[in-house]
Amino acid sequence: MRAGRVYLIGAGPGDPELLTLKAARVLGECDVVLVDALVHRAVLGHCRRGVEVLDVGKRGGERSTAQARIERLMIERAMRGATVGRVKGGDPGVFGRGGEELAAVRAAGIRVEVVSGVTAGVGVPGALGIPLTHRDLTHGVTLVTGQTRNGVREPDWRALARTGTTLVVYMGLGRLPEIATALVAGGLPADTPAAAIERGTLPGERHVVTRLGQLAADVAARGIASPALVVIGDVVRLGDDAVETPRGWRAA
Ligand code: SAH
Repeated sequence: MRAGRVYLIGAGPGDPELLTLKAARVLGECDVVLVDALVHRAVLGHCRRGVEVLDVGKRGGERSTAQARIERLMIERAMRGATVGRVKGGDPGVFGRGGEELAAVRAAGIRVEVVSGVTAGVGVPGALGIPLTHRDLTHGVTLVTGQTRNGVREPDWRALARTGTTLVVYMGLGRLPEIATALVAGGLPADTPAAAIERGTLPGERHVVTRLGQLAADVAARGIASPALVVIGDVVRLGDDAVETPRGWRAA
């Protein structure tokens, strides 16, 4: 029996056109695909007819397919000779537990290859015309999660406030008031431009552009919900909305 293999495939931030050519080609080789909730169904249009599609969607707070089961499914199918595509939102190596899946598949002695995707932290601000760096405004960008596993130390927000980099917070809505307070306590001015973007690059996208000090209140007032990304830094004012002076925005 031929040996199977696994591809960890990034599907990009949402818009199915933000898929890479390589992802599209590799999807066409798969016998079975395991798909996350955040992946647009149109992405599966690149698969062969008859491909087996396993929905293993996981969303924060919702009932989820256990991680161990996902890894077992991939390994079992590949051991039976299948070409397995594990399709994940954004990039598989950014907050997607791709690292854990890669290690599990490798440990089982199965060939595995990563097909990078556009991570939400890059693609979502990009769609709004927010550059993550700008030589006049910031020399870098930090991708950080607002949600950490029980028992794992959470990001040092006060220290992050002093980096001078644009901050892109994944999964940050749940703890937004605490995060914003800690950043201000760490020295980041409360009037630093900030944005929260729900369902970026997708129909139904909603966002709020405001200032760090008002971010949590504005997000609550607008009912911005997960999946959402938070971007904090002077670059936010270069985005498309900054020129429109939306609610919550005070021109400097
Ligand atoms: N591997 C993914 C991230 C998985 S964690 C990537 O590289 O993008 C899931 C989090 O990503 C969400 O809670 C949200 O914070 C962010 N996210 C993913 N897609 C998004 C989208 N279309 N709009 C806004 N945030 C998104």
